[in-house]
Amino acid sequence: MSSAQEKRTPHVVIVGAGLAGIAAAIALKTQLGFHNFTIYEKADAVGGTWRDNTYPGCGSDVPAHWYSLSTDLNPKWQSYYATQPELRAYWEELWHKHDLVRHTVLNSTVVNAEWSNDAQRYTVDIQDTRTGEKKQVEAEVMFYAIGGFQAPLYPKDLHGLESFKGESFHSARWRHDAVLRKKRVGVIGNGCSAAQLIPEIARDPTVQVVNFCRTPQWFVPRRNIQYPGWVQWMFAHVPFLLRWYRNLIMARSDLGFLIFRKDNKLLVKIARKFLSMYIRSKAPKEEADKLIPNYAPGCKRIIVDPGYLESLNQPNVSLRWDALDSIVENGIKMKTGEVIPLDVIIFSTGYSLEATQLDIRGSKGVTIKEYHQSKGGPMAYLGSCTPGFPNAYILLGPNVASGHASVIFSEESQINLAVQLIRPVVEGKAKSFEITDEATEKYNDWLQNRLQSSVWTDCVSYYQAGRDSKTRIIATFPGPVSLFWWFCRSPKWELFRGVGAEAWNRERKQRKLTKWALSTLLLGLALGLGLESWRSLIKRVVAERAQGMFI
Ligand SMILES: Cc1cc2nc3c(=O)[nH]c(=O)nc-3n(C[C@H](O)[C@H](O)[C@H](O)COP(=O)(O)OP(=O)(O)OC[C@H]3O[C@@H](n4cnc5c(N)ncnc54)[C@H](O)[C@@H]3O)c2cc1C
Repeated sequence: MSSAQEKRTPHVVIVGAGLAGIAAAIALKTQLGFHNFTIYEKADAVGGTWRDNTYPGCGSDVPAHWYSLSTDLNPKWQSYYATQPELRAYWEELWHKHDLVRHTVLNSTVVNAEWSNDAQRYTVDIQDTRTGEKKQVEAEVMFYAIGGFQAPLYPKDLHGLESFKGESFHSARWRHDAVLRKKRVGVIGNGCSAAQLIPEIARDPTVQVVNFCRTPQWFVPRRNIQYPGWVQWMFAHVPFLLRWYRNLIMARSDLGFLIFRKDNKLLVKIARKFLSMYIRSKAPKEEADKLIPNYAPGCKRIIVDPGYLESLNQPNVSLRWDALDSIVENGIKMKTGEVIPLDVIIFSTGYSLEATQLDIRGSKGVTIKEYHQSKGGPMAYLGSCTPGFPNAYILLGPNVASGHASVIFSEESQINLAVQLIRPVVEGKAKSFEITDEATEKYNDWLQNRLQSSVWTDCVSYYQAGRDSKTRIIATFPGPVSLFWWFCRSPKWELFRGVGAEAWNRERKQRKLTKWALSTLLLGLALGLGLESWRSLIKRVVAERAQGMFI
């Protein structure tokens, strides 16, 4: 190895400047004091999901104080659930506050990365999205923070869009120039985005909305509260109040996981009953039966109702449950042959969760896609590390998401694990760490086994590979997110194959030994002091008894 190579400062590449990319960069700076990293973002701005989704009514369905970074609490959230503009502003503010602007290269897609066992680093191919120009950089460590809800999904079996004379777009790419006033608007899909946007566009009574639904959804009431100025002031100034409040929200929300276990029969039954009652109380009577699902609550993401059910009572909103045949020039043709005339079609049909942007070749010569194919779908250790891909960390990887909690919390847990594995690499004490096949298999056996008793096996959803109920569940973690955090709190080093890590392993063992010796000494001292005080107390009591004080 030449001296130039020996002196090289490790470089970390972060793919994606969404929430996870920004969070990973902040962790590198604040936890490791490490600055030699670059974030490549394919779009022309940061913010990921909250940059791309700008449809009316767009916002989070996890309380804002939890759907934000634990390291950067925000006392200024205006309400319990945050809106898209607020969320986008929060992440942009963090990007500036932590001086990440100079680490970020926008309009740059990471196309591919390839690991060299000799050099112990990745060669990363990057393409400028405006000029098409390509360049290569080297990276010892890679973070894939490319999200899961990036590519808008269109129904594969609905043909004829090219013949439609009106305007059409996906809710994730909202056309703000499209005029809906006095128009007949068809919204295909009734998931979270549709439920948020329909009440908003239907506020204008001249907009005639037809919502095309296939599968009913479960809803919970959205009790949104506005935080008055004095509460925001208290959050900002009263020590620990904001942290305490966030923890309370977190604990309460995480308990919600209990209804995702099929074995909790009574709880699932109660949830079903309560949620059915809620639908009946809000929706038009004639629609209620169709709106109540026959699968268990939670199998598909439960919608935190932003007023969708109530909006169905408006004369300008109607539902269609019958099957669609095709799109024709003036609307949508149903299987019955009926044509629903429309001026605008909005696809609110979700996202492709296939990680098409994840192109990486690892230490065994195979790509991550080939690895996933060999396993029958995406698979990783703690959703973060993949055997054969040293020093590469996938954020929001397989089985990380949850149906009831903040994705940011889970991604922070992953980052916490990764940062500990990266530390020796960036400090020059090890070259690489790679999770073993055995550890990954064992973890996934446990995971898949537990998933069998979850409600997610009860229906077809995007939680399954290829949205096929016969495949594995690849999106969700089968436990409360606090358990996921516990798993990620520190690496089990013995499950990782380290290269050039001998000195680090020695140092780590020495530290462990010192810690053990110190705690034993402290325990011994405490016990000794304790015994000594007991001894003197007993002595005193005996002496006092002898003096006849206790009779
Ligand atoms: C409408 C909507 C509402 C949601 N609401 C919630 C909610 O309430 N609670 C919740 O927990 N989750 C919610 N989610 C899930 C949400 O996606 C995640 O919470 C969050 O965005 C994940 O952040 P991320 O950084 O991992 O991914 P993203 O925010 O998707 O960011 C990924 C970034 O990577 C970039 N990128 C991708 N590929 C490349 C490449 N090859 N090269 C360079 N850059 C690349 C993208 O352009 C993007 O900026 C919601 C999702 C949607 C779509």
